[in-house]
Amino acid sequence: MYGKYFELLKQGGADLAMRIEASSVVTAPWTIYKCRYGCGTYGKSHCCPPNCPTWKETQEILDAYRYGILFRCHDMNLVTPLAVEAARELFLDDYYKAIAFGSGPCKKCAVCNPDHCNFPGKTAPSMEACGIDVFATVRGLGLEIHTLRKKGETQNHFGLILVE
Ligand code: SF4
Repeated sequence: MYGKYFELLKQGGADLAMRIEASSVVTAPWTIYKCRYGCGTYGKSHCCPPNCPTWKETQEILDAYRYGILFRCHDMNLVTPLAVEAARELFLDDYYKAIAFGSGPCKKCAVCNPDHCNFPGKTAPSMEACGIDVFATVRGLGLEIHTLRKKGETQNHFGLILVE
């Protein structure tokens, strides 16, 4: 059904892409704590809290969709641009509701403009910034994800496109 987009994602660096039910995406209220007290970009990015949807708003958004495309990259920097590109392609193919969620803070500009994004059509907030519990979501789908202790360990970063 979404084979064309799986291929686009794989050509862009994803090693896994799958269709999921939107209802399998888990949101949680504690995620904002990690941003506020664990990340230097809190309040400094258009795509980070408090400038992106809260976990409750994200849950409402999720409830408006039936499907998602979840994909995995081992390089975090690939995820957000790839999610945006795939969502754009879906939109142009008449999946007019397609929206993207990336991974990590947006790094498109040397200095972010949190109030007025310099490239609003070319970026997206991360799953975690919007209150998605990425670990619970991914593990619930039978995929592996772990916290990392050492440099050089394989990193698994995930992106999501909501579509129907
Ligand atoms: S595109 Fe630039 S201004 Fe917009 S969120 Fe990313 S870094 Fe910030």
